[in-house]
Amino acid sequence: MNAPVKPKKLIKGATGDWEIVIGMEIHAQVTSQAKLFSGASTAFGGNPNSHVSLVDAAMPGMLPVINEECVRQAIRTGLGLKAQINLKSTFDRKNYFYPDLPQGYQISQYKSPIVGEGEVIVDVPETGETIMVRIERLHLEQDAGKSIHDLHPTMSFVDLNRSGVALMEIVSKPDLRSADEARAYVTKLRTILRYLGTCDGDMDKGNLRADVNVSVRRPGEEFGTRCEIKNVNSIRFIGQAIEVEARRQIAILEDGGVIEQETRLFDPGKGETRSMRSKEEAHDYRYFPDPDLLPLEFDQAYVDDLAQHLPELPDAKKARFMSDYGLSSYDAGVLVAERASADFFEEVAKGRDGKAAANWIINELFGRLNKEGKDITQSPVSAQQLGAIIELIGENVISGKIAKDLFEIVFTEGGDPREIVEKRGMKQVTDTGAIEKAIDEVIAANPDKVEQAKAKPTLLGWFVGQVMKQTGGKANPQAVNEILKSKLGIE
Ligand code: ADP
Ligand code: MG
Repeated sequence: MNAPVKPKKLIKGATGDWEIVIGMEIHAQVTSQAKLFSGASTAFGGNPNSHVSLVDAAMPGMLPVINEECVRQAIRTGLGLKAQINLKSTFDRKNYFYPDLPQGYQISQYKSPIVGEGEVIVDVPETGETIMVRIERLHLEQDAGKSIHDLHPTMSFVDLNRSGVALMEIVSKPDLRSADEARAYVTKLRTILRYLGTCDGDMDKGNLRADVNVSVRRPGEEFGTRCEIKNVNSIRFIGQAIEVEARRQIAILEDGGVIEQETRLFDPGKGETRSMRSKEEAHDYRYFPDPDLLPLEFDQAYVDDLAQHLPELPDAKKARFMSDYGLSSYDAGVLVAERASADFFEEVAKGRDGKAAANWIINELFGRLNKEGKDITQSPVSAQQLGAIIELIGENVISGKIAKDLFEIVFTEGGDPREIVEKRGMKQVTDTGAIEKAIDEVIAANPDKVEQAKAKPTLLGWFVGQVMKQTGGKANPQAVNEILKSKLGIE
Protein backbone atom coordinates (compact mmCIF):
# COMPACT_ATOMS: atom_id res chain seq x y z
CA MET A 1 0.00 0.00 0.00
CA ASN A 2 1.24 3.47 -0.79
CA ALA A 3 0.99 6.37 1.58
CA PRO A 4 -2.12 8.40 0.80
CA VAL A 5 -1.59 11.54 -1.22
CA LYS A 6 -3.22 14.47 0.52
CA PRO A 7 -3.11 18.20 0.28
CA LYS A 8 -1.03 19.62 3.12
CA LYS A 9 -2.71 21.23 6.09
CA LEU A 10 -0.06 23.67 7.15
CA ILE A 11 0.03 25.75 10.28
CA LYS A 12 1.84 29.05 10.52
CA GLY A 13 4.78 29.50 12.84
CA ALA A 14 6.82 32.64 13.42
CA THR A 15 9.39 31.54 10.83
CA GLY A 16 7.15 29.86 8.24
CA ASP A 17 4.84 26.91 7.68
CA TRP A 18 4.82 23.65 9.60
CA GLU A 19 3.07 20.36 9.04
CA ILE A 20 1.76 18.15 11.88
CA VAL A 21 2.31 14.40 11.64
CA ILE A 22 0.19 12.11 13.84
CA GLY A 23 0.09 8.36 14.42
CA MET A 24 -2.23 6.76 16.94
CA GLU A 25 -2.17 3.74 19.18
CA ILE A 26 -5.74 2.96 20.20
CA HIS A 27 -6.43 0.66 23.12
CA ALA A 28 -9.82 -0.92 22.65
CA GLN A 29 -11.28 -3.19 25.31
CA VAL A 30 -12.46 -6.42 23.72
CA THR A 31 -16.15 -7.14 24.21
CA SER A 32 -16.19 -10.54 25.94
CA GLN A 33 -17.62 -12.01 29.13
CA ALA A 34 -14.28 -13.14 30.52
CA LYS A 35 -10.72 -11.85 30.62
CA LEU A 36 -7.96 -12.65 28.11
CA PHE A 37 -6.32 -15.43 30.16
CA SER A 38 -8.78 -16.16 32.96
CA GLY A 39 -12.46 -16.84 33.53
CA ALA A 40 -13.01 -13.76 35.70
CA SER A 41 -15.79 -11.39 34.69
CA THR A 42 -15.11 -8.23 32.70
CA ALA A 43 -18.22 -6.48 34.08
CA PHE A 44 -17.73 -2.79 34.74
CA GLY A 45 -18.40 -1.19 38.11
CA GLY A 46 -18.17 -4.18 40.47
CA ASN A 47 -16.84 -3.73 43.99
CA PRO A 48 -13.06 -3.32 43.99
CA ASN A 49 -11.27 -6.65 43.53
CA SER A 50 -14.52 -8.59 43.09
CA HIS A 51 -13.66 -9.79 39.57
CA VAL A 52 -10.19 -11.13 40.18
CA SER A 53 -9.09 -14.73 39.67
CA LEU A 54 -5.86 -16.16 40.99
CA VAL A 55 -4.40 -15.71 37.51
CA ASP A 56 -5.28 -11.99 37.43
CA ALA A 57 -3.75 -11.54 40.87
CA ALA A 58 -0.60 -13.32 39.61
CA MET A 59 -0.48 -15.89 42.36
CA PRO A 60 2.59 -18.11 42.06
CA GLY A 61 2.13 -21.12 39.83
CA MET A 62 -1.01 -19.87 38.10
CA LEU A 63 -1.06 -20.41 34.34
CA PRO A 64 -2.79 -18.28 31.72
CA VAL A 65 -5.27 -19.96 29.37
CA ILE A 66 -6.20 -18.09 26.21
CA ASN A 67 -9.85 -17.09 25.88
CA GLU A 68 -11.00 -18.13 22.42
CA GLU A 69 -13.70 -15.47 22.32
CA CYS A 70 -11.08 -12.70 22.57
CA VAL A 71 -9.13 -14.26 19.71
CA ARG A 72 -12.28 -14.46 17.64
CA GLN A 73 -13.05 -10.79 18.33
CA ALA A 74 -9.52 -9.72 17.40
CA ILE A 75 -9.74 -11.60 14.08
CA ARG A 76 -13.16 -10.10 13.34
CA THR A 77 -11.77 -6.65 14.06
CA GLY A 78 -8.83 -7.31 11.75
CA LEU A 79 -11.24 -8.35 9.01
CA GLY A 80 -13.24 -5.16 9.58
CA LEU A 81 -10.03 -3.17 9.11
CA LYS A 82 -9.37 -5.05 5.83
CA ALA A 83 -6.20 -6.29 7.43
CA GLN A 84 -3.87 -9.22 7.07
CA ILE A 85 -4.79 -11.96 9.56
CA ASN A 86 -1.78 -13.89 10.81
CA LEU A 87 -2.57 -17.58 11.23
CA LYS A 88 0.26 -17.86 13.69
CA SER A 89 1.20 -15.26 16.29
CA THR A 90 2.95 -15.27 19.64
CA PHE A 91 2.54 -13.78 23.09
CA ASP A 92 5.43 -11.99 24.75
CA ARG A 93 6.14 -10.68 28.19
CA LYS A 94 6.64 -6.93 28.38
CA ASN A 95 8.44 -6.44 31.67
CA TYR A 96 7.89 -3.43 33.84
CA PHE A 97 6.97 -2.70 37.41
CA TYR A 98 3.81 -0.99 38.50
CA PRO A 99 1.86 -1.58 41.72
CA ASP A 100 -1.23 -2.27 39.59
CA LEU A 101 0.57 -4.89 37.51
CA PRO A 102 1.00 -7.81 39.92
CA GLN A 103 2.72 -10.11 37.40
CA GLY A 104 5.56 -7.63 36.96
CA TYR A 105 5.00 -7.94 33.23
CA GLN A 106 2.19 -7.49 30.76
CA ILE A 107 1.39 -10.31 28.35
CA SER A 108 1.31 -8.67 24.95
CA GLN A 109 2.30 -9.43 21.38
CA TYR A 110 5.50 -7.90 20.13
CA LYS A 111 7.26 -9.24 17.03
CA SER A 112 4.39 -11.26 15.70
CA PRO A 113 0.91 -9.83 16.26
CA ILE A 114 -2.38 -11.53 15.41
CA VAL A 115 -3.28 -8.86 12.82
CA GLY A 116 -0.98 -7.07 10.36
CA GLU A 117 -1.48 -4.21 7.91
CA GLY A 118 -4.91 -2.85 7.11
CA GLU A 119 -6.69 0.39 6.34
CA VAL A 120 -9.51 2.69 7.41
CA ILE A 121 -11.34 5.07 5.07
CA VAL A 122 -12.18 8.31 6.86
CA ASP A 123 -14.47 11.19 5.88
CA VAL A 124 -13.20 14.41 7.46
CA PRO A 125 -16.22 16.66 8.07
CA GLU A 126 -14.25 19.91 8.45
CA THR A 127 -12.56 19.64 5.04
CA GLY A 128 -15.02 17.44 3.17
CA GLU A 129 -12.10 15.19 2.24
CA THR A 130 -11.91 11.42 2.34
CA ILE A 131 -8.57 10.03 3.48
CA MET A 132 -7.12 6.57 3.86
CA VAL A 133 -5.34 5.81 7.11
CA ARG A 134 -3.10 2.77 7.05
CA ILE A 135 -3.10 0.38 9.99
CA GLU A 136 0.25 -1.02 10.95
CA ARG A 137 -0.90 -3.82 13.25
CA LEU A 138 -3.41 -4.96 15.83
CA HIS A 139 -2.28 -7.05 18.76
CA LEU A 140 -3.87 -8.56 21.85
CA GLU A 141 -2.66 -7.69 25.32
CA GLN A 142 -3.74 -7.54 28.97
CA ASP A 143 -4.97 -4.44 30.70
CA ALA A 144 -3.50 -3.48 34.06
CA GLY A 145 -5.34 -2.83 37.34
CA LYS A 146 -5.94 0.58 38.83
CA SER A 147 -4.10 2.35 41.62
CA ILE A 148 -6.22 4.66 43.75
CA HIS A 149 -4.31 7.40 45.53
CA ASP A 150 -7.04 9.71 46.79
CA LEU A 151 -8.97 7.57 49.29
CA HIS A 152 -6.50 7.64 52.18
CA PRO A 153 -4.02 10.26 53.36
CA THR A 154 -0.99 7.97 53.54
CA MET A 155 -1.91 4.82 51.67
CA SER A 156 -2.71 3.84 48.11
CA PHE A 157 -5.20 1.18 47.14
CA VAL A 158 -5.25 -1.12 44.17
CA ASP A 159 -8.27 -2.48 42.30
CA LEU A 160 -7.47 -5.45 40.08
CA ASN A 161 -10.89 -5.79 38.45
CA ARG A 162 -9.44 -4.58 35.20
CA SER A 163 -6.26 -6.60 35.51
CA GLY A 164 -6.11 -9.13 32.68
CA VAL A 165 -9.02 -7.73 30.68
CA ALA A 166 -8.33 -8.15 26.94
CA LEU A 167 -7.31 -5.11 24.95
CA MET A 168 -6.73 -4.74 21.25
CA GLU A 169 -3.98 -2.25 20.54
CA ILE A 170 -4.59 -0.83 17.08
CA VAL A 171 -1.59 1.06 15.72
CA SER A 172 -1.91 3.42 12.77
CA LYS A 173 0.89 4.54 10.47
CA PRO A 174 1.80 8.22 10.79
CA ASP A 175 -0.73 9.17 8.11
CA LEU A 176 -2.76 11.83 9.91
CA ARG A 177 -2.00 15.51 9.28
CA SER A 178 -4.33 17.52 11.51
CA ALA A 179 -6.41 17.41 14.67
CA ASP A 180 -9.54 17.24 12.49
CA GLU A 181 -8.23 14.15 10.71
CA ALA A 182 -7.24 12.52 13.98
CA ARG A 183 -10.66 13.09 15.52
CA ALA A 184 -12.40 11.77 12.41
CA TYR A 185 -10.15 8.72 12.38
CA VAL A 186 -10.92 7.74 15.98
CA THR A 187 -14.62 8.37 15.41
CA LYS A 188 -14.61 6.11 12.35
CA LEU A 189 -12.59 3.41 14.03
CA ARG A 190 -15.03 3.45 16.95
CA THR A 191 -17.96 3.15 14.53
CA ILE A 192 -16.38 0.09 12.91
CA LEU A 193 -15.70 -1.54 16.30
CA ARG A 194 -19.28 -0.91 17.38
CA TYR A 195 -20.71 -2.36 14.17
CA LEU A 196 -18.58 -5.44 14.70
CA GLY A 197 -19.55 -5.64 18.37
CA THR A 198 -15.89 -6.15 19.28
CA CYS A 199 -15.56 -3.05 21.54
CA ASP A 200 -18.30 -0.83 22.91
CA GLY A 201 -16.16 2.28 22.34
CA ASP A 202 -17.24 3.80 25.64
CA MET A 203 -14.50 6.36 26.27
CA ASP A 204 -16.04 7.54 29.55
CA LYS A 205 -15.44 4.10 31.02
CA GLY A 206 -11.93 3.93 29.55
CA ASN A 207 -12.96 1.16 27.16
CA LEU A 208 -11.36 3.06 24.28
CA ARG A 209 -8.36 5.30 24.84
CA ALA A 210 -5.72 6.75 22.60
CA ASP A 211 -1.98 7.28 22.76
CA VAL A 212 -1.40 10.13 20.34
CA ASN A 213 2.02 10.46 18.70
CA VAL A 214 2.71 13.97 17.43
CA SER A 215 5.63 15.48 15.56
CA VAL A 216 6.04 18.52 13.32
CA ARG A 217 8.17 19.16 10.25
CA ARG A 218 8.77 21.69 7.54
CA PRO A 219 6.65 20.74 4.52
CA GLY A 220 8.46 18.16 2.39
CA GLU A 221 11.12 17.38 5.00
CA GLU A 222 11.69 14.11 6.85
CA PHE A 223 9.50 13.29 9.85
CA GLY A 224 10.52 15.06 13.04
CA THR A 225 10.97 13.54 16.50
CA ARG A 226 7.64 12.53 18.02
CA CYS A 227 6.21 12.83 21.47
CA GLU A 228 3.60 10.38 22.65
CA ILE A 229 0.65 11.75 24.59
CA LYS A 230 -0.65 8.90 26.75
CA ASN A 231 -4.17 7.77 27.46
CA VAL A 232 -6.27 10.56 26.03
CA ASN A 233 -9.84 9.59 26.81
CA SER A 234 -12.13 11.75 24.72
CA ILE A 235 -12.28 12.64 21.05
CA ARG A 236 -12.41 16.34 21.84
CA PHE A 237 -9.31 16.07 24.04
CA ILE A 238 -7.46 14.22 21.27
CA GLY A 239 -7.94 17.25 19.03
CA GLN A 240 -6.94 19.71 21.75
CA ALA A 241 -3.89 17.69 22.78
CA ILE A 242 -2.61 17.59 19.19
CA GLU A 243 -3.01 21.34 18.69
CA VAL A 244 -1.23 22.35 21.89
CA GLU A 245 1.50 19.75 21.49
CA ALA A 246 2.22 20.83 17.90
CA ARG A 247 2.39 24.48 19.04
CA ARG A 248 4.76 23.55 21.84
CA GLN A 249 7.09 21.68 19.48
CA ILE A 250 7.03 24.47 16.89
CA ALA A 251 7.96 27.04 19.54
CA ILE A 252 10.94 24.93 20.66
CA LEU A 253 12.16 24.31 17.11
CA GLU A 254 11.77 27.94 16.07
CA ASP A 255 13.76 28.86 19.13
CA GLY A 256 16.62 26.68 17.88
CA GLY A 257 15.90 23.83 20.30
CA VAL A 258 15.41 20.11 19.69
CA ILE A 259 12.48 17.86 20.55
CA GLU A 260 13.24 15.15 23.08
CA GLN A 261 11.34 11.97 22.38
CA GLU A 262 9.23 11.50 25.46
CA THR A 263 5.92 10.40 26.89
CA ARG A 264 3.64 13.26 27.87
CA LEU A 265 0.26 13.74 29.52
CA PHE A 266 -2.49 16.09 28.38
CA ASP A 267 -4.06 18.24 31.08
CA PRO A 268 -7.46 19.34 29.75
CA GLY A 269 -7.95 21.82 32.60
CA LYS A 270 -4.76 23.72 31.83
CA GLY A 271 -4.88 23.02 28.10
CA GLU A 272 -1.25 21.87 27.99
CA THR A 273 0.83 18.72 27.76
CA ARG A 274 3.52 17.99 30.31
CA SER A 275 6.37 15.56 30.44
CA MET A 276 5.70 12.24 32.16
CA ARG A 277 8.87 10.31 31.42
CA SER A 278 11.52 10.05 28.73
CA LYS A 279 10.59 7.60 26.02
CA GLU A 280 11.24 4.01 26.90
CA GLU A 281 12.70 1.85 24.14
CA ALA A 282 11.61 -1.69 23.30
CA HIS A 283 14.83 -3.09 24.83
CA ASP A 284 13.94 -1.46 28.16
CA TYR A 285 11.04 -3.88 28.40
CA ARG A 286 13.16 -7.03 27.97
CA TYR A 287 10.51 -8.60 25.72
CA PHE A 288 10.65 -12.37 25.47
CA PRO A 289 8.16 -15.05 24.37
CA ASP A 290 5.88 -16.01 27.25
CA PRO A 291 6.89 -19.58 28.13
CA ASP A 292 3.45 -20.25 29.63
CA LEU A 293 1.66 -19.81 26.30
CA LEU A 294 1.97 -21.74 23.07
CA PRO A 295 1.99 -19.78 19.82
CA LEU A 296 -1.53 -18.85 18.83
CA GLU A 297 -2.55 -20.80 15.74
CA PHE A 298 -5.74 -21.23 13.75
CA ASP A 299 -6.53 -22.15 10.17
CA GLN A 300 -7.75 -20.14 7.21
CA ALA A 301 -11.13 -21.91 7.25
CA TYR A 302 -11.77 -20.44 10.71
CA VAL A 303 -10.94 -16.96 9.42
CA ASP A 304 -13.07 -17.44 6.30
CA ASP A 305 -16.02 -18.49 8.40
CA LEU A 306 -15.72 -15.37 10.56
CA ALA A 307 -15.38 -13.23 7.42
CA GLN A 308 -18.58 -14.70 6.02
CA HIS A 309 -20.53 -13.81 9.12
CA LEU A 310 -19.37 -10.22 9.54
CA PRO A 311 -22.20 -7.69 9.61
CA GLU A 312 -22.47 -5.12 6.84
CA LEU A 313 -19.90 -2.46 7.80
CA PRO A 314 -20.34 1.33 7.61
CA ASP A 315 -18.56 1.88 4.27
CA ALA A 316 -20.61 -0.77 2.51
CA LYS A 317 -23.81 0.44 4.15
CA LYS A 318 -23.09 4.02 3.14
CA ALA A 319 -22.51 3.02 -0.49
CA ARG A 320 -25.72 1.00 -0.48
CA PHE A 321 -27.75 3.86 1.02
CA MET A 322 -26.45 6.14 -1.74
CA SER A 323 -27.25 3.74 -4.56
CA ASP A 324 -30.48 2.19 -3.25
CA TYR A 325 -32.10 5.27 -1.75
CA GLY A 326 -30.42 8.06 -3.75
CA LEU A 327 -28.95 9.68 -0.63
CA SER A 328 -26.12 12.20 -0.76
CA SER A 329 -22.74 11.09 0.55
CA TYR A 330 -23.18 13.44 3.50
CA ASP A 331 -26.63 12.18 4.51
CA ALA A 332 -25.63 8.54 4.08
CA GLY A 333 -22.52 9.21 6.20
CA VAL A 334 -24.55 10.76 9.00
CA LEU A 335 -27.00 7.84 9.05
CA VAL A 336 -24.40 5.06 9.10
CA ALA A 337 -22.33 6.67 11.86
CA GLU A 338 -24.34 4.63 14.36
CA ARG A 339 -25.73 1.26 13.50
CA ALA A 340 -28.96 2.06 15.35
CA SER A 341 -29.64 5.14 13.20
CA ALA A 342 -28.87 3.20 10.04
CA ASP A 343 -31.34 0.49 11.06
CA PHE A 344 -33.95 3.08 12.00
CA PHE A 345 -33.52 4.77 8.62
CA GLU A 346 -33.96 1.54 6.72
CA GLU A 347 -37.14 0.72 8.58
CA VAL A 348 -38.57 4.14 7.71
CA ALA A 349 -37.30 4.13 4.12
CA LYS A 350 -38.36 0.62 3.14
CA GLY A 351 -41.12 1.00 0.53
CA ARG A 352 -41.21 4.77 1.02
CA ASP A 353 -39.38 7.85 -0.23
CA GLY A 354 -35.79 7.30 0.96
CA LYS A 355 -34.69 10.90 0.59
CA ALA A 356 -37.69 12.14 2.56
CA ALA A 357 -36.93 9.55 5.24
CA ALA A 358 -33.30 10.72 5.48
CA ASN A 359 -34.38 14.36 5.66
CA TRP A 360 -36.89 13.76 8.41
CA ILE A 361 -34.48 11.71 10.48
CA ILE A 362 -31.48 14.01 10.11
CA ASN A 363 -33.21 17.38 10.29
CA GLU A 364 -36.27 16.81 12.47
CA LEU A 365 -35.81 13.68 14.54
CA PHE A 366 -32.11 14.07 15.40
CA GLY A 367 -32.64 17.74 16.24
CA ARG A 368 -35.58 16.96 18.47
CA LEU A 369 -33.84 14.03 20.19
CA ASN A 370 -30.82 16.21 20.78
CA LYS A 371 -32.95 18.76 22.56
CA GLU A 372 -34.16 16.04 24.94
CA GLY A 373 -30.68 14.57 25.38
CA LYS A 374 -31.90 11.27 23.93
CA ASP A 375 -30.35 8.99 21.33
CA ILE A 376 -32.10 7.17 18.52
CA THR A 377 -32.70 4.04 20.60
CA GLN A 378 -34.79 6.15 22.99
CA SER A 379 -36.80 7.88 20.28
CA PRO A 380 -40.42 8.42 21.30
CA VAL A 381 -41.30 8.39 17.59
CA SER A 382 -40.94 4.89 16.16
CA ALA A 383 -39.86 4.13 12.60
CA GLN A 384 -43.44 3.07 11.87
CA GLN A 385 -44.86 6.35 13.15
CA LEU A 386 -42.36 8.45 11.20
CA GLY A 387 -43.04 6.31 8.14
CA ALA A 388 -46.77 7.02 8.47
CA ILE A 389 -46.12 10.78 8.63
CA ILE A 390 -44.05 10.60 5.47
CA GLU A 391 -46.80 8.60 3.76
CA LEU A 392 -49.41 11.19 4.72
CA ILE A 393 -47.32 13.90 3.03
CA GLY A 394 -46.76 11.72 -0.03
CA GLU A 395 -50.50 11.12 -0.33
CA ASN A 396 -51.13 14.86 -0.09
CA VAL A 397 -53.26 14.32 3.00
CA ILE A 398 -51.18 16.82 4.96
CA SER A 399 -48.81 19.60 3.96
CA GLY A 400 -45.16 19.67 4.98
CA LYS A 401 -45.98 22.37 7.48
CA ILE A 402 -48.78 20.43 9.14
CA ALA A 403 -46.52 17.39 9.13
CA LYS A 404 -44.17 19.20 11.47
CA ASP A 405 -47.02 19.88 13.89
CA LEU A 406 -48.08 16.26 13.61
CA PHE A 407 -44.51 15.12 14.26
CA GLU A 408 -44.42 17.22 17.43
CA ILE A 409 -47.70 15.71 18.63
CA VAL A 410 -46.46 12.17 18.00
CA PHE A 411 -43.15 13.00 19.67
CA THR A 412 -44.73 14.35 22.85
CA GLU A 413 -48.02 12.44 23.08
CA GLY A 414 -47.53 9.33 20.94
CA GLY A 415 -50.38 7.83 18.92
CA ASP A 416 -51.16 6.70 15.41
CA PRO A 417 -50.40 9.58 13.00
CA ARG A 418 -53.31 8.69 10.71
CA GLU A 419 -55.80 8.69 13.55
CA ILE A 420 -54.44 11.95 14.91
CA VAL A 421 -54.86 13.63 11.52
CA GLU A 422 -58.40 12.29 11.29
CA LYS A 423 -59.45 13.16 14.83
CA ARG A 424 -57.92 16.60 15.00
CA GLY A 425 -59.02 17.64 11.52
CA MET A 426 -55.49 18.24 10.28
CA LYS A 427 -56.18 17.13 6.75
CA GLN A 428 -55.01 19.41 4.04
CA VAL A 429 -57.79 21.19 2.16
CA THR A 430 -57.44 20.23 -1.48
CA ASP A 431 -61.07 20.95 -2.25
CA THR A 432 -60.62 23.87 -4.66
CA GLY A 433 -64.08 25.17 -3.87
CA ALA A 434 -63.15 25.75 -0.24
CA ILE A 435 -59.80 27.27 -1.18
CA GLU A 436 -61.43 29.58 -3.72
CA LYS A 437 -63.88 30.75 -1.10
CA ALA A 438 -61.07 31.66 1.26
CA ILE A 439 -59.19 33.46 -1.51
CA ASP A 440 -62.26 35.46 -2.51
CA GLU A 441 -62.67 36.58 1.07
CA VAL A 442 -59.07 37.74 1.35
CA ILE A 443 -59.26 39.56 -1.99
CA ALA A 444 -62.52 41.26 -1.03
CA ALA A 445 -61.07 42.48 2.25
CA ASN A 446 -57.90 43.93 0.69
CA PRO A 447 -58.70 45.79 -2.51
CA ASP A 448 -55.66 48.11 -2.16
CA LYS A 449 -53.27 45.16 -1.86
CA VAL A 450 -54.85 43.60 -4.95
CA GLU A 451 -53.97 46.68 -6.99
CA GLN A 452 -50.42 46.68 -5.63
CA ALA A 453 -49.95 42.97 -6.33
CA LYS A 454 -50.80 43.44 -9.98
CA ALA A 455 -47.83 45.79 -10.29
CA LYS A 456 -45.60 43.93 -7.84
CA PRO A 457 -46.05 40.13 -8.12
CA THR A 458 -43.81 39.47 -5.09
CA LEU A 459 -46.82 40.47 -2.97
CA LEU A 460 -48.28 37.09 -3.88
CA GLY A 461 -46.51 35.64 -0.86
CA TRP A 462 -48.47 37.93 1.43
CA PHE A 463 -51.74 36.68 -0.06
CA VAL A 464 -50.68 33.05 0.30
CA GLY A 465 -49.96 33.76 3.96
CA GLN A 466 -53.41 35.30 4.48
CA VAL A 467 -55.19 32.41 2.82
CA MET A 468 -53.22 29.89 4.90
CA LYS A 469 -54.20 31.78 8.02
CA GLN A 470 -57.82 31.78 6.92
CA THR A 471 -57.73 27.99 6.46
CA GLY A 472 -55.85 27.23 9.66
CA GLY A 473 -52.74 26.28 7.66
CA LYS A 474 -54.56 23.41 6.05
CA ALA A 475 -54.98 24.63 2.47
CA ASN A 476 -52.81 22.84 -0.06
CA PRO A 477 -50.15 25.52 -0.71
CA GLN A 478 -49.74 24.57 -4.35
CA ALA A 479 -53.46 24.92 -5.04
CA VAL A 480 -53.53 28.25 -3.18
CA ASN A 481 -50.69 29.54 -5.31
CA GLU A 482 -52.26 28.55 -8.59
CA ILE A 483 -55.72 29.87 -7.86
CA LEU A 484 -54.36 33.10 -6.44
CA LYS A 485 -52.23 33.73 -9.50
CA SER A 486 -55.13 33.31 -11.86
CA LYS A 487 -57.46 35.45 -9.74
CA LEU A 488 -54.92 38.25 -9.41
CA GLY A 489 -53.89 37.96 -13.03
CA ILE A 490 -50.21 37.32 -12.15
CA GLU A 491 -48.11 35.17 -14.45
P1 ADP B 1 5.97 2.65 20.58
O1 ADP B 1 5.52 1.42 21.25
O2 ADP B 1 7.41 2.94 20.67
O3 ADP B 1 5.12 3.82 20.90
P2 ADP B 1 4.59 1.88 18.23
O4 ADP B 1 5.09 1.25 16.99
O5 ADP B 1 3.67 1.11 19.12
O6 ADP B 1 5.84 2.39 19.02
O7 ADP B 1 3.82 3.20 17.86
C1 ADP B 1 4.41 4.19 17.19
C2 ADP B 1 3.31 5.14 16.79
O8 ADP B 1 3.90 6.40 16.50
C3 ADP B 1 2.58 4.73 15.53
O9 ADP B 1 1.22 5.05 15.63
C4 ADP B 1 3.25 5.56 14.46
O10 ADP B 1 2.37 5.86 13.38
C5 ADP B 1 3.57 6.82 15.21
N1 ADP B 1 4.73 7.54 14.67
C6 ADP B 1 5.91 7.03 14.28
N2 ADP B 1 6.75 8.01 13.88
C7 ADP B 1 6.08 9.18 14.03
C8 ADP B 1 6.41 10.56 13.83
N3 ADP B 1 7.60 10.94 13.38
N4 ADP B 1 5.47 11.48 14.11
C9 ADP B 1 4.27 11.12 14.59
N5 ADP B 1 3.91 9.84 14.80
C10 ADP B 1 4.80 8.89 14.54
MG1 MG C 1 3.46 3.34 22.19
